[in-house]
Amino acid sequence: MSDPIRIVNDATCTFCGCVCDDIVLTVDTEQHRITKSQNACVLGKAWFKEHGIEERPHALIGGREASTEEGVEEAAQILANARFPVIYGLSDTTCEAQRVAVSIADMIGGNVDTTTSVCHGPTGIAFQGVGESTATLGEIRNRADLVMFWGGNPAEAHPRLFSRYAVTPKGMFIPNGRKDRTVVLVDVRRTQSTPVADIFVQVKPGADFELLWALRALVRGRRVDGAAVERRTGIAMAVLEDLVVRMKSCRFGVLFFGMGLTMTRGRHFNAGALLSLATDLNEFTHFVAAPVRGHGNVTGADNVMSWQTGFPFGVNLSRGYPRFNPGEFTAVDLLSRGEADAAMFIATDPASNFPKPAIEHMHRIPVISLDPKPTPTGQLSHVVFTTATYGINVAGTAYRMDNVPLPLRPAFDSP
Ligand code: SF4
Repeated sequence: MSDPIRIVNDATCTFCGCVCDDIVLTVDTEQHRITKSQNACVLGKAWFKEHGIEERPHALIGGREASTEEGVEEAAQILANARFPVIYGLSDTTCEAQRVAVSIADMIGGNVDTTTSVCHGPTGIAFQGVGESTATLGEIRNRADLVMFWGGNPAEAHPRLFSRYAVTPKGMFIPNGRKDRTVVLVDVRRTQSTPVADIFVQVKPGADFELLWALRALVRGRRVDGAAVERRTGIAMAVLEDLVVRMKSCRFGVLFFGMGLTMTRGRHFNAGALLSLATDLNEFTHFVAAPVRGHGNVTGADNVMSWQTGFPFGVNLSRGYPRFNPGEFTAVDLLSRGEADAAMFIATDPASNFPKPAIEHMHRIPVISLDPKPTPTGQLSHVVFTTATYGINVAGTAYRMDNVPLPLRPAFDSP
């Protein structure tokens, strides 16, 4: 009898944008379950534990069990007959699936959007405006001696960003790990990440842009009205001047930034200000900026959308060529305004997090959903497909948050 226990080395966790590829999985091939996930953080362990094989219909049409072929035919009819359909989600599936989804949108002349539009969409807009100074997480681990986090809480959202890449690990030019790094956190409130920082800068809510612009001015040696900056941002000039000295004199600095910057007042202006600050600092030292991405392959979604259409999200293909217009062709807006007449959701659950008018419209139109798990979106969908989980049952490619593509090593097959 063959041993039902299988070990998968160097498996990849696709739960968050860190896409850790050093996981050792212990798989019970008889029970179709992962029993142990060595090296994974608490979030990764839960991800691997929850994705066993459940007895579920492969497809549902109108709530009734159907074959996959019947589901495909019904879904194809919906998409082919729609006049202004939207395809949305894509950040929790492989690049191979993403490119097929974009092709379908192209074929039917529809809209295609990803969850980037509700997280780092403003960053995508800012990239186009001011560019980006980049590095891989490997470079950051080996070289960064000043690590800044702006508007995010990695301790809870990306636990291994600290331990694997940016704060504690020893690197080629950071031989003493944490001791060789200065860590700065900028946020509107204290979080579980705050104790990790050497310097915590508590900016007033909604004043990130002003704070970034004041830092830009100080880096460039311009005169700044310290009292006015403090009134607006809550940060004293002495703190900013000390920060600027550290930023200009470090050997390799990084500005990680999260949705606290991109989804608050200012949005793409905030992201653009931070990217410009990193660029300014390159006149004095080496400095990079890095958005901290949430979903496991949201960065892949940006890449696939960009290489297929030229734009990272919110694309319309009705005229036979791509048009990019966030606010017009983004899923939340198409649904909230009642414009989309059909929707296909791939590995996403907008019925749980979209605004009420968008969800109400989803009840009025034919919806197709593809997801490994039952979801509220599946409940309101006309056609539902149960899919295998990427990285656990499906091989393919996922992009880490630093745009490095990684191969997935699935643990066991799915029906
Ligand atoms: S940090 Fe993210 S990718 Fe890494 S193990 Fe945790 S959840 Fe998975």
